[in-house]
Amino acid sequence: MWRKAGPKARYSVVIIGGGGHGLATAYYLAKEHGIADVAVLEKGPIGLGNTGRNTTIIRSNYLWDESARMYEHSLKLWEGLSAELNFNVMLSQRGVLNLAHSEHDVREGKRRLNANRLNAIDAEWLDAAAVKRFCPVLSVSPDARYSVLGATLQRRGGVARHDAVAWGFARAADAHGVDIVENCEVIAIRTARGRVTGVDTTRGEIAADKVAIVAAGHNSVVAAMAGVRLPLQSHPLQALVSDPVKPVLDCVVMSNAVHVYLSQSDKGELVIGAGIDAYNSYAQRGSFHVIEAQMAALLELFPSFSRLNMLRSWAGIVDVSPDASPIIGGLPVGGLYLNGGWGTGGFKATPGAGHVFAHTIARDEPHPLAAPFSLDRFTTGALIDEHGAAGVAH
Ligand SMILES: Cc1cc2nc3c(=O)[nH]c(=O)nc-3n(C[C@H](O)[C@H](O)[C@H](O)COP(=O)(O)OP(=O)(O)OC[C@H]3O[C@@H](n4cnc5c(N)ncnc54)[C@H](O)[C@@H]3O)c2cc1C
Repeated sequence: MWRKAGPKARYSVVIIGGGGHGLATAYYLAKEHGIADVAVLEKGPIGLGNTGRNTTIIRSNYLWDESARMYEHSLKLWEGLSAELNFNVMLSQRGVLNLAHSEHDVREGKRRLNANRLNAIDAEWLDAAAVKRFCPVLSVSPDARYSVLGATLQRRGGVARHDAVAWGFARAADAHGVDIVENCEVIAIRTARGRVTGVDTTRGEIAADKVAIVAAGHNSVVAAMAGVRLPLQSHPLQALVSDPVKPVLDCVVMSNAVHVYLSQSDKGELVIGAGIDAYNSYAQRGSFHVIEAQMAALLELFPSFSRLNMLRSWAGIVDVSPDASPIIGGLPVGGLYLNGGWGTGGFKATPGAGHVFAHTIARDEPHPLAAPFSLDRFTTGALIDEHGAAGVAH
């Protein structure tokens, strides 16, 4: 699939983090900007961070113009990604429902739907009866504690196979000459006269003209190696899967109010996501109290799932920014860049973020879609508040 490259002494660009975002960045740097003298340094095997731990939901129905454009750019890339990479990423555009359980949810949902349409993003409003027709296994009983009053539907939303995304980008980047260096942890970032000069790793020193940090839950730890303090909080985010069952759910269902989001995998497991853990931590572990809340939320919406057995649970470490939007661009050290702060929702952005980040690194100026997501918005106040966009409360 890709060469087991050892690190060279020097690269034009070193990317810290071999998740989907790091690998996509490397691929687009090589393919679109002719910069193939690139190493992706991953402390373990590639794709086992959040890229291999998420619930794989893809959509672009974000509220604000800046986010809508970014996520729609990504969704369009998803739609051609299997052909682009010659690797089946198993994109399944089965439709994403965002449920409304109160008058407030209905107003917010319709507001978002109208904003989406103004950005040429497909969006529909379904009343409760239409929701039931679209997703028969969901309970829309008016007697439920959180009865379903309606939902937004993005038909082009869906899921993809997360491992395949990492492997597909890795193979394609490798074919362009990128070195993917696994089991190589960055332990220091070297700087001189306000510019990066390279990194120290568990496999030795590597000199670099430019260094890009794409380490998800560890972004703040890695940026601190260069003396940069980021406005990010790292939290565990948990998910679990049920035993495999026959097909029962052929769409994605998300509910912000009861805090659950789920789909059914090709193997038949229900893939069920939780809200973030309240505390900061770097433990990639599940825990019983979260499972309990998640199961309670699941059964509010799907009472018929009460007899399902749960198979396994896990966590990833997500880096949450103050406005729940990503940070993409240069940091206050020359030649140092960040693509992070994706929090609970960056899988869907993998190709789009990699694409605009590669442009930003190659030209040393923000891609127009990335410009609003620069770090300085936390001092200018031009925040992009997407707290309401996720199925997860932050
Ligand atoms: C349970 C869960 C559910 C989620 N559900 C969704 C969803 O449905 N839809 C969605 O869009 N998003 C979802 N997300 C968020 C999504 O997974 C992430 O935003 C996205 O995968 C981030 O990709 P990445 O490549 O930046 O991070 P990662 O895949 O985590 O890659 C970062 C890599 O950096 C490496 N690294 C860290 N420190 C170092 C170092 N010092 N040296 C070298 N390497 C280092 C790590 O080992 C890791 O492999 C979910 C996340 C979780 C945890």
